[in-house]
Amino acid sequence: MRMWLLVLFACLPVLGAGAQPPPVPPRQTVAFVDVHVLPMDRDRVLAGQTVLVEDGRIVAIGETLPLPPQTQVVDGDGAWLLPGLADMHNHLDGRQDMAVQLALGITTTLHMGEARNSFVGRTRAAVAAGEQAGPRSFVALAVDGSPRYGHLVVRDADDARATLRVAQANGYDALKLYNTLSPDAFEALMAEARAAGLPVVGHGVTEVGLQRQLEAGMALVAHLEEFFYAFFPPAPDDDPNAAPDPAQIEAAVALLRAHGTPVVADLVTYRAIAAQWGRPDVVAGFLHRPEARYLPPQFRVSWPAQGYAGREGSLDRRVAFLSGFVRALQAAGVPLLSGTDAQDIPGLVGGFALHDNLDALVEAGLTPYEALVTATRAPGEFVHRHRPDLALSGVVAPGARADLVLVRADPRDGLATLRQPLGVMADGRWYPAGDLAARLEDVARQYRAAADSALDLPPAAGGGDGPARWRSGQP
Ligand SMILES: [Zn+2]
Repeated sequence: MRMWLLVLFACLPVLGAGAQPPPVPPRQTVAFVDVHVLPMDRDRVLAGQTVLVEDGRIVAIGETLPLPPQTQVVDGDGAWLLPGLADMHNHLDGRQDMAVQLALGITTTLHMGEARNSFVGRTRAAVAAGEQAGPRSFVALAVDGSPRYGHLVVRDADDARATLRVAQANGYDALKLYNTLSPDAFEALMAEARAAGLPVVGHGVTEVGLQRQLEAGMALVAHLEEFFYAFFPPAPDDDPNAAPDPAQIEAAVALLRAHGTPVVADLVTYRAIAAQWGRPDVVAGFLHRPEARYLPPQFRVSWPAQGYAGREGSLDRRVAFLSGFVRALQAAGVPLLSGTDAQDIPGLVGGFALHDNLDALVEAGLTPYEALVTATRAPGEFVHRHRPDLALSGVVAPGARADLVLVRADPRDGLATLRQPLGVMADGRWYPAGDLAARLEDVARQYRAAADSALDLPPAAGGGDGPARWRSGQP
């Protein structure tokens, strides 16, 4: 008995720290004192500031501010305060994914299709109500012309009308177009979406092309690489992985500028695909990276089964082309929004992939400040254009939503500091570093426990091709 007690007590601190995530902090009046602010409206710093937050909004910024009684003071001690980050193309809908993203400074996401209904209707409402920790999520309903990629099929104007009704009834924020829509279905969807006030985002539709899609008012191109499939001349048959002629970039820039259309600058997505193209060993390596602790266990099964590792040739020329493309878009002032496609594509772990994308943008030639804009101000402006009823986000300014990240160093000198925030504020709720670490550890513990319990399952009675209990008809 005494022995057991000793063991129990020895374990308690560990269990206590890891068994449950901390409760979601309440919205409070919070003052960040002695912080350098990167407001992200332009490339400047406000040194030695106090930033006051009340009821989920930034209410004042100044060198000295009168603080209301009961203000919770966060002593920045010269740390750097900037807007929370946004991942504007992902497919993350797990409760754990929400905690991981928050811990990495992400306070806004755009889910680009195939979210579970429980996420659309319930999980994100729980986040908004402060019952669960995570970023604010916008969700797009993915539609296509065939069931080939697993999306909802829209064949004609009748389907388009019904689809918009379903999208609105279920609280979707946008429609996401996929590759095989017919031109008729495309035009009907655009008309219905316009009437409903729902923005349309998407891939290039093969039979329509980005030129017409942008003319028709598509609000956002979902990947940089869509221009390979629906704008630039196709690669020759004898060299299918060839990159377009860089001279074609000018026309793409002109098209985007003419319509003021932003692009998801997801360099990390195509780079991940290129890295694993014909390389099963690379996919196996992804599962041994440190961030794989935070990858939901089902992706350990689905990633190695994805087709890219079985492909032939190399995408290196296209990767190099996209770097030049993104530089040209940046130089021309086309709004770029960071996105990742996590975690359907092997190698892209939610949250971590956004930081990898920012690094990739810097490698391609953007400054760290320009890269930061793609994950702060530019997504904030995109959201504001389509939802002017919501508080502005992506900047640190009076009246803006209180989504903030506190980091040790000036991220313009190196983005690595963003990967380990001193704290994150989401919708006015303050999560200090210790709280975030506990949430991350809780997720890793849950995934480890799931893997361990799967290994402990007894063999199915009766053998054969499945668990006997399922076959006997038990629920
Ligand atoms: Zn996607």
